[in-house]
Parts: sequence; C-alpha cells; structure tokens
Amino acid sequence: MPKTMKAAVLHKIGDGLKIETVARPATGPGEVLIRVTACGVCHSDLHAIEGDWTPHPALPLIPGHEVTGHVEELGAGVTEFAKGDRIGVPWMFWSCGTCEFCLQGMETICLKTEATGYSKPGGYAEYMVAPAAFCGHIPDHVDMYAIAPILCAGVTTYRGLKRTGAKPGQWLAVIGIGGLGHIAIQYARAMGLRVAAIDVSDEKLAHAKRLGAEILVDARGNDPGAEVKEKTGGGAHGAVVTAVSARAFEQSVTMLRPAGAVSFIGLPGGDADQIRLSIGQIVNGEYSIRGSNVGTRQDLNEAVAFAARGQVNADIETQPLENISAIFARMKKGDIRGRVVLAIS
Ligand SMILES: [Zn+2]
Ligand SMILES: [Zn+2]
Repeated sequence: MPKTMKAAVLHKIGDGLKIETVARPATGPGEVLIRVTACGVCHSDLHAIEGDWTPHPALPLIPGHEVTGHVEELGAGVTEFAKGDRIGVPWMFWSCGTCEFCLQGMETICLKTEATGYSKPGGYAEYMVAPAAFCGHIPDHVDMYAIAPILCAGVTTYRGLKRTGAKPGQWLAVIGIGGLGHIAIQYARAMGLRVAAIDVSDEKLAHAKRLGAEILVDARGNDPGAEVKEKTGGGAHGAVVTAVSARAFEQSVTMLRPAGAVSFIGLPGGDADQIRLSIGQIVNGEYSIRGSNVGTRQDLNEAVAFAARGQVNADIETQPLENISAIFARMKKGDIRGRVVLAIS
C-alpha cells in the first residue's frame, strides 16, 4: 500500500483548497482505514473552508463528510467491519457515548462530538480513517457514488422529517427544493406523507412535482402560508425548512395546521441567521419549532436502508477531485442541480 495519498487540503481559512500529496493516515484502536471511492460535496464544506462557523475547522483540513469506500485495514479491536467491506462515513465522526445526550439516543447534540471533514480529516482524499463504531454499512448492490449524499443530505432530511412527528397520510410542507429538499420529498413519500412543495423557482417546483409533491406553492406569491393552508385544508401537519433565506423560516410557521411542528434543517448563516416570528401565533396555535442536526447512527442506518431499496435517489453529478475549486465557485453562484459527488477511485 502506498505511504502517501492525494488529497484536497485547506491550510488557511479563505485560501481555498490545494491538491497535494500527503502522508496516508494510520489507524488507531477502533478505527478503520478506508480507501475512498466517492465523497459528496456539501454546502457545509464551503462554510468550513471559508471560516463561516465558529469554532473554525482544525487546520490543515481535508474536508468531506459524505464518504463511501472500502475498508482497507482494521485498527486494533475493530469488530464492526471486515477488510474489503463497503463502508460509509457521515458528518458525525464520533460522540462520547456516555454523556446525558448520548445516553438518551441524542448523540447528535453530544458536546464532545467530532465532525468528519471539520474537526477531523474527511473524504476529499484517497484514504481516510474513521472510528468503525460510527460508520455505516453500504449494501452490496448499492451504487457507491449515488449513495454518498444520503450519508449527509439523506440522514439530515430524514431525521428532520421524523422530528416533525407527521404521520402517514398527513401533510408535510417541504420548503426549499434544492440539494436537501429534493431528497426530503422522497423520504416523505416513502414514509406515506403527502407533500406540499414550496420554492421560488418554477424549475424546482416542476422537479418537486415529478418527485410526487401533490401541492406546489410559489413562495414569490403574496402569502404562501395562506396558500398552503387553503390547499391542504387547514395547513401542514409538519414542515421541514431546507432553504437558505431567513424569510422561508419565518413563513414556515404560517403554513402549519394548529399543533403542527416545523424542523429547521437549512443553515443560512451570516445576516440570514436571524428570524422574526409572532409569539401570539405560536402560543395560540400550539406550534412546535425544532432544530434538527444531521442524524444519529440509527438515523443513518434507516436512511441508507430507504435508499438501498430504491425509494430515495439523490440527483448526482460526478466530478474529479481536481475540479473542487470550480465546484465551490459554482456552488456559490447557486449553479448546482442536486449534488456533486467526487469520484476518487
Ligand atoms: Zn453535509
Ligand atoms: Zn456524548
């Protein structure tokens, strides 16, 4: 096995990624060495390399947290995987397993959690290491490129959907039909929910319709909340917001049926990070507003299982690692349909 590998590396916030030859990582106890096949490019990776979030990522950084590959080497004590197994690595690299949140199955909010491609090196590289206990198994027949975005976009939308508490036959409003939203519609449909899709683009609404959304609402209209209420006969039971404008988050509450719940999934960041809501409306309607932060290992396994059965498919475009800077330039312009996946080996 080579002692070095090709990777996209960030040395300084704002300097962009450089393709370099670096040392291949070595496994510690409980870790697996993975030969990376594919890695999805997520908007969070752009936030990481531009330093939009605090704390900043650990430098030098190899981003990437939608990783699929094959197990190449086992660290001491690994029992979850065998050499050659197909493996997936999500955003949640590790959590402590012993704090009050981990013990309640809420490992997504563990305060000691480590993040793949942020606090730990990720999958924009030929090899990476990860704790075996936090990786997912990828079934044999599944396309390793197509499944990559499910490890982040899939898990995130799936958990967000579950956290609305909406039940089969009820209405779910999906607000923002982009990289996350087009996947949210498919999970909702697979879970027996009826979908109202809300966006500001005719093309994205048409896409939502093809994916099975029954109601399409153009948020450029006067009152998208009233329109959703009218078309669903009283409002959505649940809503997920994947959009990147603060206004979309504000409008989401107006789309709900009394006692409805909305999950906030998107992260607009910067100036768009603040919203204004009517307290009276929330009190009187007994609405719930919930954050949803990626997913647990159980969410990961369930989300992958839906996709492995063919019920959820991410729209992907594959690109070589060398094109990463051009991909981020397109992402900044909103010029990406679905998800870009780096084809690494
Ligand atoms: Zn992500
Ligand atoms: Zn913990």
